[in-house]
Amino acid sequence: MKIIRTIDELRKQVKQWRREGLSVGLVPTMGYLHEGHASLIYRSYKENDRTVVSDFVNPTQFAPNEDFESYPRDIEHDAQVVGDNGGDVIFNPEPDEMYTDGFCSFVDMTGLTEELCGLSRPTHFRGVCTVVTKLFNIVQPDRAYFGKKDAQQLAVIKRFVKDLNIDVEVIGCPIVREADGLARSSRNTYLSKEERQSALIIPEALETGKILIQSGETDTHKIVRAIADRIETEPVAKIDYVKIVDAETMQQIEKIDRPALCAVAVYIGKTRLIDNFFTEDIKENAE
Ligand code: AMP
Repeated sequence: MKIIRTIDELRKQVKQWRREGLSVGLVPTMGYLHEGHASLIYRSYKENDRTVVSDFVNPTQFAPNEDFESYPRDIEHDAQVVGDNGGDVIFNPEPDEMYTDGFCSFVDMTGLTEELCGLSRPTHFRGVCTVVTKLFNIVQPDRAYFGKKDAQQLAVIKRFVKDLNIDVEVIGCPIVREADGLARSSRNTYLSKEERQSALIIPEALETGKILIQSGETDTHKIVRAIADRIETEPVAKIDYVKIVDAETMQQIEKIDRPALCAVAVYIGKTRLIDNFFTEDIKENAE
């Protein structure tokens, strides 16, 4: 396992693999790797000859009031996780390697990015689309792996890959949770012991929604209300949104009459956590 810090060196490495006829998987991350990231890396390892894990806290996807500076970083631990899960390279550039002086080209999108997290983070997806496009151009992977934890991000990436004819297979992977149900996230480290306990209201409330859907409820207002009511029983939880949207377009729907995404963003104290489920996944589990 090798740590690479420059675009040139990474390109040389990938070209060498290509000359040897090897396939390449890419796992984009912001580092501080946990079991969720590990599951993506391991899946890439199983499905490709070589795996590149990018480990880059991308400044363009953070607004000035967000946690870019304080976002947790630990490259030594990350190297261990990547190695243990079959990754071959960690790409860990400095911001000025990715964004050289005078940088002024961005990849942006309408529609999909204007709902859910896009409402409270209006510049976020432009940063995500731009950095992921850059990573796709640098690595030119056969397959790229993203978690369903960031469901809107996954839908956005699938869409721009289709719209811009980028030759990569985008693979969505299941959410990995702690034993008590909380979705794993690098931001969980911000939670105090008490907040960590309070955060359990998020998976519990989503479970309420799943049960309603499984019992045949299709009225999204009723389902959203039940989830929100449950979250509001927890005093330190503050809802950013609870929404049910079309799984592809991310637009709100009135009835669950097509594949849908039920997504929440909730502040636990100062920490904003997201979680969700796709209706197709709960159907599959029930079958
Ligand atoms: P991040 O480092 O948070 O930007 O995440 C990098 C990738 O890991 C994204 O595709 C995330 O969706 C994915 N990821 C983060 N947390 C989880 C999780 N708990 N389960 C599955 N994938 C995850």
